[in-house]
Amino acid sequence: MHIAVLAGDGIGQEIMTEALRALDALGLDDLRLDHADVGGVAYRKHGRPLPEETLELAKTADAILFGAVGDPELDGLRRELRVESAVLGLRKELQLFANLRPAKAFAGLEDLSALKPEVAGAIDLLILRELTGDVYFGEKGQRTTEAGRREGYDVMAYDEDEVSRIAHVAFRAAQGRRKKLCSVDKANVLQTSVLWRKVVEEVAAEYPDVELSHMYVDNAAMQLVRNPGQFDVVLTGNIFGDILSDQASMCVGSIGLLASASLGTSTRGLYEPIHGSAPDIAGQGIANPSAMILSAAMMLRHSFGMETEATRLEAAVAQVLEQGVLGQDLGGSASTSEIGDAVVAQLAS
Ligand code: ATP
Ligand code: MG
Repeated sequence: MHIAVLAGDGIGQEIMTEALRALDALGLDDLRLDHADVGGVAYRKHGRPLPEETLELAKTADAILFGAVGDPELDGLRRELRVESAVLGLRKELQLFANLRPAKAFAGLEDLSALKPEVAGAIDLLILRELTGDVYFGEKGQRTTEAGRREGYDVMAYDEDEVSRIAHVAFRAAQGRRKKLCSVDKANVLQTSVLWRKVVEEVAAEYPDVELSHMYVDNAAMQLVRNPGQFDVVLTGNIFGDILSDQASMCVGSIGLLASASLGTSTRGLYEPIHGSAPDIAGQGIANPSAMILSAAMMLRHSFGMETEATRLEAAVAQVLEQGVLGQDLGGSASTSEIGDAVVAQLAS
């Protein structure tokens, strides 16, 4: 098991330390960890947010554990040097087009959700976010219009192959769950979405056992808060998925709880929390490492087929939360390392 460890910026380093301790506590054989720089850290050391060595390592490893990138002090860099481009570059280079973001209620946290406890307790959904297209990758720039005004633009585009390959992933995921798939778009306004909907319908013919529905993204945002229990798999594009998953995290309790797997056509995947580098709390030792630890569990499951170990790790995080070992994001006072200690202790018990 060869893992590229890219902790990155801000709280990335702090939460990665705890995820690696948790992996170590599982007592896995044959674990090779190689660390490399990415994001602002890499820019400062090597002049680029995604150095060649880092990309090479990511391409040769079996899996990538990724913390976060983002550094407000480097916000002024030109587009291709922006630290955020590192993760976009990795996703694109490795063709990691499918981003799985599970959101499930944790026992004992229902009262801490932004929703009513009985509504929050019913959450058990998987957001399937397309990751290598949409406005994030379309032509973009700033220019001056003929009228002399400044204008910014980002092209939203999906071709049919991009939609169909993520749709297949979503239908197969639904088959392994409650067999319900809700495709989220904005087909009443966007041509991208009109095509998206058509292609998803075509793919659906191959999965007659899955119940498919469509929802506009504005309604989906509302329904996610009104009745999240109605969703099983939610399939959506890059930007809508970005927004809806941050929203889903607060329905569960905190952005520090949700993990993600970014997959392509092979078993190589990139595993990272849905949150970013949280510069506002970086270096204080108060970030919640749960999302990072749960990302490591997703890695064991999806890249290494280690379902038993993945479940053990997930159960340990859930038990620690149920015991009330909570960070400041959930109204508690446990530090990053105290949460990590509790997970390690749970794994040892
Ligand atoms: P990105 O663009 O990379 O997604 P972002 O701008 O969405 O980043 P985040 O870094 O995710 O921002 O932070 C959003 C808020 O959530 C911040 O106030 C941050 O402190 C908080 N936050 C994020 N992750 C955690 C965590 N693991 N534990 C506690 N708080 C967190
Ligand atoms: Mg974000």
